[in-house]
Amino acid sequence: MNDIINNIKNVRSRIALACENIGRDVDSVKLMLATKTVDPDRIRIAIEAGETLLGENRIQEFAVKNPELSDLKYDRHFIGHLQTNKIKDVLKYNVKCLQSLDNIELMQKLDRHFQAEGCCIDVMVQVNTSFESSKFGLSPDKVFTFLKELKKYDTLKLTGFMTIGLFDSSMEAVRRSYTRLKDLRNRAISEGIVSPECKELSMGMSSDLEVAIEEGATIVRIGTAIFGTRI
Ligand SMILES: *Cc1c(COP(=O)(O)O)cnc(C)c1O
Repeated sequence: MNDIINNIKNVRSRIALACENIGRDVDSVKLMLATKTVDPDRIRIAIEAGETLLGENRIQEFAVKNPELSDLKYDRHFIGHLQTNKIKDVLKYNVKCLQSLDNIELMQKLDRHFQAEGCCIDVMVQVNTSFESSKFGLSPDKVFTFLKELKKYDTLKLTGFMTIGLFDSSMEAVRRSYTRLKDLRNRAISEGIVSPECKELSMGMSSDLEVAIEEGATIVRIGTAIFGTRI
């Protein structure tokens, strides 16, 4: 129990220090707990310590964890690859934001579902900023076309952009991924393709949150540094 609370304190001070170094307000960065494979009783400790934002990669994990955490108040984001046959579960498990929107088929099917249900959902466009073929996300050169298409679907409310940066021990190589996402957002806003409110940048993980914050991250997604190494 103490380890999780201490780890959160540690991550929060890393965030604060990174903000201070770059002259950003610490409240401009939200901490998301990346809770894949983490048991509900360990997640509970973090929420009871004051954390309010959770990201899951697999819909099935919401199915297992939601009931056990139902007495707690927190926001759920989906940060994994969503298969179209799981769309109805997004609503069922009360997902507030789908951070991993990256293809037109998914966009259309989501909209159809949410139209039918008479509600809407926040989305972020996931961009493959590292050009690794193993990663999901839109290639950067396809993002603007995609954003123009997204405007047609009024059940999907764009809040910003998400990326999983390059996995590399060179922080300068990692930084290039994050700079790329920031530049895309800035251009999308300045060219009027999206509204200035669509400014969220979900980027940065345990090993590189400082670099992400320097590049403008507004949400960092932290797993290992809080819950320890995944088995
Ligand atoms: C697991 C995961 C994270 C957190 O990674 P850590 O290195 O454990 O902090 C962030 N984002 C996504 C999409 C993940 O799958």
